[in-house]
Amino acid sequence: MPNHIPHLMRAAVTRDWNNISVEQVPVPKLEPGEVLVRVGACGICGTDLKILAGVYQGYWPPSLPFIQGHEWAGTVVDLGDSITDLQVGDRVVAENHKGCGVCANCRSGRYNLCESVATDNTVHKIYGHSAQGAFAEYAARPVGLLHKLPDIVSFEEATIVNQGALGLHAIRRCSIEPGDTVAIIGPGLIGLVTMQLARAFGATRIIVSGYGPRLDLARELGADDVIDISKNDPAERFRTLTNGRGVDCAFECAGTPAAVNTALGCVKRGGRIGLIGLSGNKPVEINSDRLTLDEIDVFGVRSSPNSYPELINLITAGKVNVGKLVSRVYPLERIAEAFETFRKRESGAIRMVIRL
Ligand SMILES: [Zn+2]
Ligand SMILES: [Zn+2]
Repeated sequence: MPNHIPHLMRAAVTRDWNNISVEQVPVPKLEPGEVLVRVGACGICGTDLKILAGVYQGYWPPSLPFIQGHEWAGTVVDLGDSITDLQVGDRVVAENHKGCGVCANCRSGRYNLCESVATDNTVHKIYGHSAQGAFAEYAARPVGLLHKLPDIVSFEEATIVNQGALGLHAIRRCSIEPGDTVAIIGPGLIGLVTMQLARAFGATRIIVSGYGPRLDLARELGADDVIDISKNDPAERFRTLTNGRGVDCAFECAGTPAAVNTALGCVKRGGRIGLIGLSGNKPVEINSDRLTLDEIDVFGVRSSPNSYPELINLITAGKVNVGKLVSRVYPLERIAEAFETFRKRESGAIRMVIRL
């Protein structure tokens, strides 16, 4: 390791459920094919709240103590032998899903669905979920998970690339086409990014449902109509706004059982639904006759395979405004406060960022 890199670093360690604190831990050692990155900024994701609360204990993370954080960017400081794609000093943004590379799904490009997931956490890793994350000064990653970041995109803004790429994967899974009418259910970070991507792919009418100040931001970022779910039955209102027809495609971005049913209630006959949110293992009751009789296509959307470079291009070209989505930036020492503020959804906070 070059001698300007210390042996210890500051990191936020999850020692127990709902207990995260900043400690000194060893800087990760590089494995073959890995790159060491000085983390610049790491965002707090809704999934981080659930991981911290112990919702997925036993696999995300497999055990405690654990370092979370999977939506981040930084600067390359050290490279493993024979890595030529990157150089020390490059600004990069990281994917967090590493497939085994040899199973049928990985070979067909669907490494987000690596088939070794259930059996082997050493070849298939989800950094920040099943392997050490980036609420830390340094992170080591396989070179294939890192993508160069143009100078025009700040590290804080780049913390949105991970969810942006998920939104792009959703847009592709659901085949958004020019002229489509789209529902965005849940104007959190993923909803507001997916909304902008739907526009970039040609959607001509976009309606967003939710509540609070996030709806104002949805309008500011280009929503044609918004639905306040505290005042309306959202599925009914979506239908009224589309002359009873329903939308071509609905994206469930809220991660609640109610939002799944809003999606089911607001799509047209023959419509498509993209399920992006996670309900935290809560069962969802639906009327499956609607799926059958109206031939509704439902697409589960997981992670962001093969989507980072295009999403970075879309941000650089101004097609996705990420700057407006960064709500607040906290130093690492205040991470517990940042988690708590995000958990309470205070003041409509969209993206809380930890600066490292
Ligand atoms: Zn996330
Ligand atoms: Zn695999």
